[in-house]
Amino acid sequence: MTTRRSSASPFQLPQWAIRLARSQHSLFLSKESRMRFVIALASTNVTRGTGGPFGAAVFERTGWRLIAVGVNLVESTRCSHAHAEMVALANAQQTVGRFDLGAANFPAHELVTSCEPCAMCYGAIPWSGIRSVLCGARASDAEAIGFDEGAKPKNWVAELKSRRITVTRDLCRKEATAVLQEYQQRGGAVYGARWG
Ligand SMILES: [Zn+2]
Repeated sequence: MTTRRSSASPFQLPQWAIRLARSQHSLFLSKESRMRFVIALASTNVTRGTGGPFGAAVFERTGWRLIAVGVNLVESTRCSHAHAEMVALANAQQTVGRFDLGAANFPAHELVTSCEPCAMCYGAIPWSGIRSVLCGARASDAEAIGFDEGAKPKNWVAELKSRRITVTRDLCRKEATAVLQEYQQRGGAVYGARWG
């Protein structure tokens, strides 16, 4: 992974995540390998106590090289935006040096997330320039342990497709959901959008 401009990222990753990202030199050719990598990020975020049970990463689609990682950092950064997907997107944009990951004449990028995006992260995807999304656990799996996924359109997959962003769901869903359940068993903090 290149680290160019990463110091300008608005989200500071835990040291273990920086080390893990820098040690990834092989390509992530299969969808499962990309998903298992972000599930490992989510799991390690739980076991290290550095944030919520969510991991994400951005890959370049031409060679399936890892560009940037993200984990949930809401508590440590005191920032409600710091969901794993937002952290991964921000770090990817800093790494490539462009706010648009889908800019013409540049490689396309994929967002891989251990749990499907909440309303906020769903909204951020078209602005990021991402061309495809892989999701592990469902929103209902996160809601089952108390997280609030927000007011996302029911047809969100079709909405993204209409913008030529493909979505694959339920990839390694069981493994991704196990991380959510482990977080709950450890008594991890649960937070979400405000209702009133
Ligand atoms: Zn989110």
